[in-house]
Amino acid sequence: MRCKICGEKPVIYMKHHRLALCGKDFISWFERYTERTIKEFRMFKKEDKILVAVSGGKDSLALWYVLSKLGYKADGLYIDLGIGEYSRTSYEKVKGMAEKIGRKLIVKKLSEDVLPLPDLINLSGREACSLCGVLKRYNFNKVAVEYGYSVVATGHNLDDEASSLLANVINWNVKYLGKKEPVLKEEEGFVRKVKPLCKFMEKETALYCLLNDIDFIEEECPFSEDASTIFYKHILNDIEERFPGTKMRFYLEYVKKIKPLFEKVIKGKTPELKRCNICGQPSPSDICPVCKLKERVLK
Ligand code: AMP
Ligand code: ZN
Repeated sequence: MRCKICGEKPVIYMKHHRLALCGKDFISWFERYTERTIKEFRMFKKEDKILVAVSGGKDSLALWYVLSKLGYKADGLYIDLGIGEYSRTSYEKVKGMAEKIGRKLIVKKLSEDVLPLPDLINLSGREACSLCGVLKRYNFNKVAVEYGYSVVATGHNLDDEASSLLANVINWNVKYLGKKEPVLKEEEGFVRKVKPLCKFMEKETALYCLLNDIDFIEEECPFSEDASTIFYKHILNDIEERFPGTKMRFYLEYVKKIKPLFEKVIKGKTPELKRCNICGQPSPSDICPVCKLKERVLK
């Protein structure tokens, strides 16, 4: 097999694209493909102020790097969850990238706002990943609004998106099926949320990091015991191995053809959003779930 562009020895063969590429041509393909995805879903323009949520993992670091290389005005936001050594190492990786590309990094410490995540898990008795997800999404939006960013970009890749879609389909979580997409449009109190890497497989973002000397954290979060996500990813990989291209089709056909149907179903069923009396963020009730949690645990 040879690189399709230059004929040199390839570093990757992407079955679903029927494309073999050498390192240099993979990097430029990855960047063109990201740009194309941004345009395809009308995610943002060169003049938009973008806030990239960076965890220190391969996907979000690759995203921040590629957006800055493509000339977008993209700053970083790191939420320090206060998970001991894991959070310290993640922060070092994120800081390393901010220095590499010379962009601003905003750090939000959960411990300064409420308490570190491990304490919150103990006190609230809630499941770690769901609690963490709520706090992260809340802070992505809050910080973006406070600092005047119009878009928040996250590093979700095709494996993340297709596996959570599969989980939601298997369980018929109709509420989520109307929401999963590469772009969540801005609405009253919410900035736009985008996923520019949603058409890349995990191994492609990992290779992009490797080829660009991007130092990312490889350890999994010590609280992430969400075995079901890993299980669904394995199943999709098995299907993909047998029928290349299925993962991409499953996700994109859903986004283009199926999701609009679910949107109609959930329209009118979602409660009107008010503003939280304490923090001012959009909320289904007078006090938002995060402020309620804060009040409860700080008592
Ligand atoms: P996860 O929920 O861990 O699968 O992460 C999904 C995306 O959320 C990542 O690609 C990042 O863009 C973002 N993210 C996760 N954890 C953090 C964090 N601690 N700080 C900022 N962004 C994060
Ligand atoms: Zn609130």
